[in-house]
Amino acid sequence: MERTRILIVEDEQIVADDLRETLEILGYEVAGLAVSGEEAIAKVVTTQPHLVLMDIRLEGAMDGIEASHIIQTNFQLPVVYLTANADRATLERVKQSQPFGYVMKPFSERSLATTIEIAIVRHQAELEVHRTLQTVQAGKNAAEELAHEKSEYLCLLAHELRNPLTAIKFATEVLQSHSEQLPDEKKMRYIQRIQTATNSLNKLLEDVLTLEHSNANPLEWSPLEVDVVGFCEELIEVLQVNCDDHHTLTFSTNVERYHAFLDEKLLWHLLNNLLSNAIKYSPEGGTIALQLLGEPDRFSLCISDQGIGIPPQTLLHLFTPFYRAENVGQIPGTGLGLAIAKQCVNLQGGSISVNSTLGQGTTFTVILPREK
Ligand code: ATP
Ligand code: MG
Repeated sequence: MERTRILIVEDEQIVADDLRETLEILGYEVAGLAVSGEEAIAKVVTTQPHLVLMDIRLEGAMDGIEASHIIQTNFQLPVVYLTANADRATLERVKQSQPFGYVMKPFSERSLATTIEIAIVRHQAELEVHRTLQTVQAGKNAAEELAHEKSEYLCLLAHELRNPLTAIKFATEVLQSHSEQLPDEKKMRYIQRIQTATNSLNKLLEDVLTLEHSNANPLEWSPLEVDVVGFCEELIEVLQVNCDDHHTLTFSTNVERYHAFLDEKLLWHLLNNLLSNAIKYSPEGGTIALQLLGEPDRFSLCISDQGIGIPPQTLLHLFTPFYRAENVGQIPGTGLGLAIAKQCVNLQGGSISVNSTLGQGTTFTVILPREK
């Protein structure tokens, strides 16, 4: 076991020698000797003692009480006074400096040893309490941060719900009050607005539920052996039909067949969000490429487009729910797709990164492990 290391602060050489001898007989290690408060502070740094034995009257401008205050505050070390000086005023100052012990000269070996042991135990206990308090405080801060994030999230969600709800309210009011005067064509337009708003409400709720569900049930996903090549080919086919040849979707891979342990639902949410973004943020006629690179124990999926790109200063915030870059203009969206994609990647132990040049295009790269 490591011996307790003690720094002696004493300006009388004979007393200091006597102390050194006594401490060594008691089984302690003398870390060093200082004759002034200034030297004591310097030696605390260089010798790293466990405890300081401090005389009150010292050489130099600083007395033992001042030196002790600096040592206890800055180095969290226990200080025990050892002095013959016991007038009332000094005792009052000693009390206020909250020492770990006080031994009157001349001292007995036993009282010195007991005071040192009690000081060490009390110091350990105080450190433990301090550590516990720090852990409790860190937990409290994290809980407060989470509560703050949740409330911000709810405000943004309410804001996103308001737009389509306002559109529905307005269109239904017009239809209700002016139904007879309105030509059929206009009525149809209002009904279409209601349908569009309902669809966007539906998508918003689905996205929020997906995000919340995967947050609340991180283990509730079931990896199965998935034919990744077949999965990608099918998804590209479906999305190509949906975007009516306004964009060209391509798929390429370095492997003919590739199986990996994945949750198909998570993989679908992941690729669907990334590919939908690539389509949505590209001009008509643009090409969107999905590339699968299969390796023995992991694989990557790259989704590249030649679209509007992402401003570099916004890249850091992209995966935060409801965040949208300022260059999206009138392109609709709620800012949830990438948060969902990131969650899907995390749940499968993978990583996602982005590379983008404003006005030229964007590439998202997802790396996923092949096994569970
Ligand atoms: P939705 O929730 O409907 O998907 P969204 O597309 O705005 O809405 P995310 O998919 O989370 O939300 O994307 C967040 C933001 O990242 C977008 O608003 C856009 O600014 C930027 N972004 C994402 N993908 C691309 C891309 N391929 N090209 C350019 N910007 C992109
Ligand atoms: Mg999106």
